[in-house]
Amino acid sequence: MSKLEVFEIPEGNIDVKRMYLPVEMELVCPKCGEKLVDDFDEQYLSYPDINSPETRGVYCDNCESELQYEVKLQVSVEADLSSIRLEGE
Ligand SMILES: [Zn+2]
Repeated sequence: MSKLEVFEIPEGNIDVKRMYLPVEMELVCPKCGEKLVDDFDEQYLSYPDINSPETRGVYCDNCESELQYEVKLQVSVEADLSSIRLEGE
């Protein structure tokens, strides 16, 4: 039987200078309609705040426009308490 405990972290700062994430956000340029990808594995988050909107910048090569949009980092921890055991067993 699994017993899961989930803790949502409402706020705080993650003390990580470069936080790379396997996220490829697909965007459409509002000016020319070009499909763009914002790769969080290349453009990292720097010292991100939890649940606090952060402005991301993306450049559209097609129409040479600077685009911006908001992202918010959400963090939770899930513990499987049915996995509790003595070390080595
Ligand atoms: Zn464009």
